[in-house]
Amino acid sequence: MSQQQFENFTASSLYCEKCKAAMPVRERLLLILPDKEIYDYLCTGCASSVGQREITAGEKMMAQATAPRRPRRRSPVRRIQL
Ligand SMILES: [Zn+2]
Repeated sequence: MSQQQFENFTASSLYCEKCKAAMPVRERLLLILPDKEIYDYLCTGCASSVGQREITAGEKMMAQATAPRRPRRRSPVRRIQL
């Protein structure tokens, strides 16, 4: 579930040197550290690494806090028809 949330703010395509084009990328968790996680981005065309990204604990908390947007509960409005 949290994977989908990350996709919202990560780049879905990056420039690939081998393909010489902006290619859609696949995100792969490379390393988990106590204070951050490192993700590797692989080109979906040639499967070579086109970039890496560090997500710090703070960023992750922010993502988790903002991602699941709960609709505000509205009190039911009663319409009175005359
Ligand atoms: Zn490529």
